[in-house]
Amino acid sequence: MTSQLSMWRRLVGDKDVASCREATRLLQSVLDGQTDEQTHTRVLRHLEACKRCGLEAETYRAIKESLATQFSEPADSQAVADLVDFGRNLTQEME
Ligand SMILES: [Zn+2]
Repeated sequence: MTSQLSMWRRLVGDKDVASCREATRLLQSVLDGQTDEQTHTRVLRHLEACKRCGLEAETYRAIKESLATQFSEPADSQAVADLVDFGRNLTQEME
């Protein structure tokens, strides 16, 4: 655990790694491939180092996958609405 923490401290001081705030703000754009390469790399480095944001990224990916599945099959609009609400709650908690 100690080595992970010291690695994280090094990364926090590195301007080539996004901060939690930046990673959260850019998460959706990065995972959707809508950012430039430099931003993409900075945020991905952060997600690798930061457990909380990494988990957030995993959740977003899972929601996206579920939505894609839902939309390619007969629509279950309640399930989609639940997922969207879930995603919104996550985003709001990060503010
Ligand atoms: Zn973070």
